[in-house]
Amino acid sequence: MFNWILKKIIGSKNQRDIKRLRPAVERINQLEQEYQALSDEELRAKTAAWKQRFAAIEDPNEERRVLEEILPEAFAVVKNGARRLVGRTITVCDHPIEWNMIHFDVQLIGGMVLHRGRISEMATGEGKTLVATLPLYLNALTGRGAHLVTVNDYLARRDCEWMGALYRFLGLTVGCIQHDQPPSVRREQYACDITYGTNSEFGFDYLRDNGMAMTKAAQVQRGYHFAIVDEVDSILIDEARTPLIISGPATVSTHQYDQFKPLVEQLVKKQTLLCNRLMSEADELFAAGKTEEAGRLLFKVKLGQPRNKQLLRMMEDAERRRALDKSELSFYSDAQKIELFNLKEELFFTMDERAYESDLSEIGREFLNPDEPDAFVLPDLMTAFADIDNRKDLTEAQKNEEKAKHQAVCDRKGERIHNITTLLKAYCIYEKDVQYVVEDNKVIIVDEYTGRKMTGRRWSDGLHQAVEAKEGVQIDRETQTMATITIQNYFRLYEKLAGMTGTAETEANEFHDIYKLDVNVIPTNRPVLREDHNDRIYKTRREKFNAVINEVRTAHGRGQPVLVGTVSVEASETLSRLLRREGIPHSVLNARYHLQEADIVARAGQLGTVTIATNMAGRGTDIKLGQGVTELGGLYVVGTERHESRRIDRQLRGRCARQGDPGTTRFYVSFEDDLMRNFGAADRMTKIMERFGMEEGEELEHSWLNKSVETAQTRVEQRNYLSRKRTLEYDDVMNKQREVVYGLRNEAIETDEPRKMIYEIMDEAVPAKVGGFLEGDDAEPNYAGLLHWVNVTFPLGLTAERAEFEKKTPKEASDFLIGQVRKSYELKCSHEEPLAVLSLERYILLNAIDRLWQEHLYAMDALREAVGLRVHAQKDPLIEYKNEAFEMFVDLMGNIKNEVLNNLFRSTSNLMAFEKFLSNLPAHLLRQEQAQQPGENHAAPAAPAAAARTTAEAPVGITLKKKTPQAGRNDPCPCGSGKKYKNCCGRQA
Ligand code: ADP
Ligand code: MG
Repeated sequence: MFNWILKKIIGSKNQRDIKRLRPAVERINQLEQEYQALSDEELRAKTAAWKQRFAAIEDPNEERRVLEEILPEAFAVVKNGARRLVGRTITVCDHPIEWNMIHFDVQLIGGMVLHRGRISEMATGEGKTLVATLPLYLNALTGRGAHLVTVNDYLARRDCEWMGALYRFLGLTVGCIQHDQPPSVRREQYACDITYGTNSEFGFDYLRDNGMAMTKAAQVQRGYHFAIVDEVDSILIDEARTPLIISGPATVSTHQYDQFKPLVEQLVKKQTLLCNRLMSEADELFAAGKTEEAGRLLFKVKLGQPRNKQLLRMMEDAERRRALDKSELSFYSDAQKIELFNLKEELFFTMDERAYESDLSEIGREFLNPDEPDAFVLPDLMTAFADIDNRKDLTEAQKNEEKAKHQAVCDRKGERIHNITTLLKAYCIYEKDVQYVVEDNKVIIVDEYTGRKMTGRRWSDGLHQAVEAKEGVQIDRETQTMATITIQNYFRLYEKLAGMTGTAETEANEFHDIYKLDVNVIPTNRPVLREDHNDRIYKTRREKFNAVINEVRTAHGRGQPVLVGTVSVEASETLSRLLRREGIPHSVLNARYHLQEADIVARAGQLGTVTIATNMAGRGTDIKLGQGVTELGGLYVVGTERHESRRIDRQLRGRCARQGDPGTTRFYVSFEDDLMRNFGAADRMTKIMERFGMEEGEELEHSWLNKSVETAQTRVEQRNYLSRKRTLEYDDVMNKQREVVYGLRNEAIETDEPRKMIYEIMDEAVPAKVGGFLEGDDAEPNYAGLLHWVNVTFPLGLTAERAEFEKKTPKEASDFLIGQVRKSYELKCSHEEPLAVLSLERYILLNAIDRLWQEHLYAMDALREAVGLRVHAQKDPLIEYKNEAFEMFVDLMGNIKNEVLNNLFRSTSNLMAFEKFLSNLPAHLLRQEQAQQPGENHAAPAAPAAAARTTAEAPVGITLKKKTPQAGRNDPCPCGSGKKYKNCCGRQA
């Protein structure tokens, strides 16, 4: 009852919406009549005039206003253009087609609904392809591009070539994105006034432009102004569960942890031996009552091996602990600075647990590099360059060569210092089962405060890899996510989005909630003559199939064409076998080849044909009746099972009775069907059937039973909607982060002065670092740590004397450092090609953003999995996810800044390697990896052979794929058939 009232209200609202558009239709038709008197040139001139008018408009509100104002004229121009094309032959997908269409009134209404940014529900065969020309033409006049999104490449090309005739006639350009196009061609297509393409091509281009392009020139798209999504339910609902992912080989790692590991291991061993010896000595000294000397040794061990087991044990003794504290205090007093230095030099290296820093001593350095005493200090490039400049014996070119040599040495050193100190930290500060655990060959961080495992988090700046190297668990990630977006979030980028399909009404809620798209049901051009019969219901599948075959045989005997719909490929095959046994000729729709499919569908309305198809949603080809078929009652659509979703059933029904043709539909259902078993429909029905006294082998039909089936369907729809909504809620978190990162990235690509961005980063990151060393909560300022950090990060060759950090406030220290770094950086740049410096700087930014963002994506994936497990801990995983994702994002932004600093002087060759890696990936090598989905019509199939060949040719190729949600064996199959995964097509999860 309630539903009925609701329907009444919604229904009448829709009627009101449509009625309101009627006067505009009249106005358009009136104008169109006037335009009939114009010459072709005069008509075309209108396009140019409007384009010029829009070119001068900058205010978006003004643009919107003008669009409204000229709508009737623009629509009339399109309609009039269509009229002028009648009789012309157009080549569409290599076939000649004669143009015979002039927009009907309902098509004008559909066009206006699209222009308003809504969904036009128009039945199959109502000519949606032509409807789209109206709002596309109008919105393209702004010069900001208008996109039409189709479900597959074939349809994109077909519709673009077909409707292209009209656009070109009116003076607009039109392009079409196809799977195999290189970037240069893509860019041309996007530059057109109107562009056709599939959702995945549009989405992948967005990801490549924003997540991978290294220069502005490498980007192909030009904004997200207006898009119409054809078969909108299929794209925004059926495909929405599979995000687009670009994955590539894990970033070429430039670290050499494995190479340095044995050396560092030996050094750590030596230090352990040394510290153990010191501990025994201390023990003896304590026994001899020489407390002060013993305390000094304890302090020394604490410096060299803070987690030494004997030391930790000895600290439990209050007296000895006091001795250590006393010694420590005295060493940190100013008077003892030299003493402290000497003490440190007696060790191989020292560890600062608090600052998580390590510092090699002279003997440590010597051990690691006996022949190169300076191996662990970055050279003072500034002075070196100044010296070179002063030399009279060198030409300019020679000077530059000399400088480059110094630079290279500096780079190599920087990398090595970084590797070794990171390894040292991994060995001496990061302890297994304290800071991390090793599980399943993975290093998992343990939260210091809660002791909770932070699955998926990774330490940055190479530390994680160093710990992995230490534990010998470094597993190479073969591929990693480089960029990802859900279809939902791609389409939310558009300023205005519209959609069209034969079936949106049942999903109106979802369209409204998620995309803010309202649905208007457009009346058909002619009254619908279709007859939908009640379902026929059987106890078993076998009985049901027998009945279907009988029905098909009878209809076929009359010559009436039959379209048999199934919900799975398996059922299609069973039916095909049964029909073969009966000697009934038929074809089976195979979604693999879109073009061939279109041919089969086109023939499906001919006298005596039988066609079997799985899931007709989003197929985009309508079935025209052959000669003499109308007299036989038109196309007969037989459904062999109710789909989980009412929408898919409506799609199937909608294949007959197009444009006022006759047609009938009937569904066959059995109690053994999944839908009936799983959603309680069978129970209810058994009761009803008992009342009717149904016997084995009998069939039953009644409108009450249809209702029962539909109740079950609504339940499943609701459940699926919630799961899609959930996916989106998770993705929303990522989406906001993506916007920030892509924004930063685009800034780096577009700016003429990347150095300015770097300096801004420096202004934030240096004070943060300095603060970390000098302003810890109730901790002593760590001057040595700061100096160490400065000297391994920047080639300043700074000494404690020159730095005088003790005499500076943190702010002064930061300012001093920023000044020094800038000076030395500018000096380094002064001898280099300015253009090269510019691109290198851009690189430093992009490299830092990309590398860390990819790590972040990886971590977010893991986090997503990890929070899922916390449901058991009575926590809302989404909230957990949001909180942790936020923390991780804050870390990410901080890390990006630090990485930029670290790379400012670090190996340019590393950065260059990254560039080479990316520039070696021309788009034609990028392959979209997409599991074929039998029975479902998916975008852009790459022939398997071609994909394999590509992999062989380009070992570093990047694969593009649509991620399949992880499906358990009992979950619904991701192909959308509605069957359990284990019983279905076995599409790889
Ligand atoms: P839909 O996408 O709505 O299912 P299509 O755009 O594929 O429908 O069009 C179905 C058929 O209707 C096409 O063969 C097309 O030529 C025809 N058609 C569409 N609009 C008109 C029209 N205004 N006049 C004549 N034929 C039309
Ligand atoms: Mg269509």
